[in-house]
Amino acid sequence: MSFGIDDLPVRDELRGKSPYGAPQLDVPVRLNTNENPYPLPEPLVERIAERVRAAARDLNRYPDRDAVELRTGLAAYLTKTGHHRLGVENVWAANGSNEVIQQLLQTFGGPGRTAIGFEPSYSMHALIARGTGTRWISGPRGEDFTIDLAAAQKAIAEHRPDVVFVTTPNNPTGTAVPPETVLALYDAAQAAKPSMVVVDEAYIEFSHGASLLPLLAGRPHLVISRTMSKAFGAAGLRLGYLAAHPAVVDAVQLVRLPYHLSAITQATALAALEHTDTLLGYVEQLKAERDRLVAELRATGYDVVESDANFVQFGRFADSHQAWRKILDRGVLVRDNGVPGWLRVSAGTPEENDAFLDAVRELQKELD
Ligand code: PMP
Repeated sequence: MSFGIDDLPVRDELRGKSPYGAPQLDVPVRLNTNENPYPLPEPLVERIAERVRAAARDLNRYPDRDAVELRTGLAAYLTKTGHHRLGVENVWAANGSNEVIQQLLQTFGGPGRTAIGFEPSYSMHALIARGTGTRWISGPRGEDFTIDLAAAQKAIAEHRPDVVFVTTPNNPTGTAVPPETVLALYDAAQAAKPSMVVVDEAYIEFSHGASLLPLLAGRPHLVISRTMSKAFGAAGLRLGYLAAHPAVVDAVQLVRLPYHLSAITQATALAALEHTDTLLGYVEQLKAERDRLVAELRATGYDVVESDANFVQFGRFADSHQAWRKILDRGVLVRDNGVPGWLRVSAGTPEENDAFLDAVRELQKELD
């Protein structure tokens, strides 16, 4: 037997666990990780090269530790699109919103503390909780994958969590959470503890509804987390950010590693922000493709959960893993998130979506 993880003195809560692992398979059509299918436009690639070249000249120095220029640019983007005025003091950036969430849990969670999410939802919330020693509570969702407010309020009152996660639009279901529900959860969390409420808006640019940024006014325990991985088509960049009261931005700096955002990352993200309008144009195309996927899947006889994101949850399958494999056999990689009976497909280019729709139509005939 070979020497493995369990032979090492790893922390008890990590024993027998597996890392996050969406398969990275080399297949013709990859629609499994909610990436934006469009490569960055050539003028943006040129601009990144220019900005990175300039940054490279200074790589003998540490980067701007506070990423002031980038945070100012992100604040301007949020102010313009979110109908709520924000300044550099309201915004913090890190390597993907996963790192933002990790910093939030290091600051407000940790040993002896508890976080709750309403599942099925983004699995990394629970995994990052585990990694930061935060106890994780799996809160309920309704049959239709909306948050059952009464049940959620009850869970918050019972567990008195230190951090409450609300993902809207939710991953993997695509479900948007109405602002009234978020407000009611915020109030429940304040009455119970008070705790921090983290609204994960990774997919908000694809939503039919607006960002919850205006709710930040007068709510210092509310944090909105965002990313450039989806709408900005820059998953490879690793740039996530949050908007919150300036005290939250000060607090996360207690746990961030010094110089966590490389000069190359900051330069690249600034270049992407300069091309916001073009990139948001792709978002419109993807929203139309998402709506087409919903309509065509329904016409083919599948159940589809209403989606406000760049992906769609569809089913129902007696054996979703077997259905996943059969779709893969036809050259299309979708995601089995372990939600029994359901699979998730990311909106790709029109050609990729056609290939996916052909595959699931064939599968439907086979299952009939
Ligand atoms: N939040 C949600 C809901 C997500 O689905 C994802 C990525 N799949 C993330 C956060 C993390 O994104 P990133 O670290 O690339 O910003």
